[in-house]
Amino acid sequence: MDQHTSRELYQEANEHIVGGVNSPSRSFKGVGGGTPVFMDRGEGAHLIDVDGNRYVDFLGAYGPMITGHAHPHIQAAIAKSASEGTLLGTPTVLENTFAKMLKEAITSLEKVRFVNSGTEAVMTTIRVARAYTGRDKIIKFSGCYHGHSDLVLVAAGSGPATLGSPDSAGVTKNIAAEVVTVPFNDAEALERALTEWGSETAAVLVEPIVGNFGIVEPEEGFLEKVNELAHANGSLVIYDEVITAFRFTYGSAQELYGVQPDMTAMGKIIGGGLPIGAYGGRADIMERVAPLGPAYQAGTMSGNPASMRAGIACLEILKEEGVYEHLDHLGKLLEEGILARADRYRLPVKINRLKGALTVYFTTEEVKDYQGAEDSDGILFARFFKEMLDQGVHLAPSKYEAWFLQTAHTEADITFTLDAVDQAFQNMREL
Ligand code: PMP
Repeated sequence: MDQHTSRELYQEANEHIVGGVNSPSRSFKGVGGGTPVFMDRGEGAHLIDVDGNRYVDFLGAYGPMITGHAHPHIQAAIAKSASEGTLLGTPTVLENTFAKMLKEAITSLEKVRFVNSGTEAVMTTIRVARAYTGRDKIIKFSGCYHGHSDLVLVAAGSGPATLGSPDSAGVTKNIAAEVVTVPFNDAEALERALTEWGSETAAVLVEPIVGNFGIVEPEEGFLEKVNELAHANGSLVIYDEVITAFRFTYGSAQELYGVQPDMTAMGKIIGGGLPIGAYGGRADIMERVAPLGPAYQAGTMSGNPASMRAGIACLEILKEEGVYEHLDHLGKLLEEGILARADRYRLPVKINRLKGALTVYFTTEEVKDYQGAEDSDGILFARFFKEMLDQGVHLAPSKYEAWFLQTAHTEADITFTLDAVDQAFQNMREL
């Protein structure tokens, strides 16, 4: 596909915006470089670029766009808030309505607070956990992404029970020393870390279903073990459900597995495409937050009417019957179709799929943790990504990301995509 105008715009963007993008994952660094496609607009499950090319969209804006783009119900909600004032700086009924909707869907939420991004939500749960326990350290799992606040930009140390090191310039060694990182799905490593650091650990932070090194489900009993080990040490359990809330069911991973954390961070889907985050949990913990308690958290834009209305509208769509079945059905067609073609062209492909989200790894091994995802072939993935883009299918430009199905996707979109996969694999074989 010709992406002539994108190249010009990217050159211009690089003159004014650092790296030409406002979030690093939008650059094509993860696929060996190249020009990101500048989009003009989204229509349902499609994106249309500035040169008029149309793409089937599986990026879904990294998760939020589960309904597809410009859904009429969400459009109407946003238009209403535009005419009523987008920001009032006072409490509104919409915040009550939306908080009640979240609580009904996710039963571990006794009290919630709206913020503006997933980063803010996770960052604040950690602060509140520290305020509640009077302890400083957290334990997290390698390869999970929890936003860009200092504490979660800490890489694993040299062993499962060792303290971390900064994963970004500007994060201090002192902050890194507050974080221990262990492999996902490894309860023994968590136990060792808690044996060493348990009495200082405020919380164990986990993506209950990983979305950030592809889709990786917890092994049976893993989440129960996280709760058991953390609670035995007097530590809290925080679920980062920024990707998973309302992704797989009307509710969260907690409803899928029947396990409840003490606190939950949310974002993405619950904003219906507008900026949002939310955190919540047990009332006795949440009541440590200002104005009731000593843990400070605030926000000029928090709970703004536009995000509230868009989020409510999005959940109303997701509550309709058959929505998650549709996403699951299309996900299954994709999974089976891609695997059949990988077989035909003898390419090493494994797919991790949960309902309407999946990751295609170029590997011969099952992927159960970060190491497995890292070991998958990034060069084959980069080639695949570019072949798909050329044929009008927009995936996320990284082997660690998921494909997100949208309610707006149709079987015709899947057929189109599988034809593109066929052609991509054929071209890859000819290399
Ligand atoms: N947690 C998880 C699990 C995420 O996937 C992300 C974003 N990809 C975040 C937190 C941060 O959310 P945001 O980009 O809205 O700050």
